[in-house]
Amino acid sequence: MKIGVLALQGDFDAHRRRLQELGSEVVLVKKPEQLDEVDALVIPGGESTTFLKLLGEAGFQKLQDFVRAKPVFGTCAGAILLAHRVNNPPQPGLGALDVSIKRNAYGRQVDSSIRLGTSKLGPEPLEMVFIRAPKFENLGPNVEVLAREGNDPVLIRQGSVLAATFHPELSDDKRVHQYFLEMVRNGGR
Ligand code: GLN
Repeated sequence: MKIGVLALQGDFDAHRRRLQELGSEVVLVKKPEQLDEVDALVIPGGESTTFLKLLGEAGFQKLQDFVRAKPVFGTCAGAILLAHRVNNPPQPGLGALDVSIKRNAYGRQVDSSIRLGTSKLGPEPLEMVFIRAPKFENLGPNVEVLAREGNDPVLIRQGSVLAATFHPELSDDKRVHQYFLEMVRNGGR
């Protein structure tokens, strides 16, 4: 089972380390063609507009085909890419999650913060690192909320697509990546 980490830009290396710690074989995906080699994909945080530029139209299309077929986990900018509708300002999304997502939703004053939230991953609170984070809005009926910070959904799943507005790869807690790998082992179910 090979897990790809989209390595165009952003904090892909922290995901690589975490996935390797958990025993996965990781491929850093620097070219869209490499998607053919992997069984699942992590789209890291970074700057979603930059991802769109670097992917180009053909890369975007290839990624969209991948997301329809195989398990994908997006964090922060990755979650933005996966959404159906992107606001503040609007930009194209892959349409893999039936949600709207508002970019930079916490405003400038609270650019970054570390908070604790609740999750379905176990009774212990989940540490959540937010960096110029977006917010999920208008969740569709098939979207399951796996974690909240306050009232806000921050980790969601729809079928074989998992997305977080925070950065689990920057906390010591491995539960979110473990959950994703479990999803991959179950063929996205
Ligand atoms: N603010 C970034 C964006 O809009 C996301 C930030 C992140 O990935 N940490 O794409």
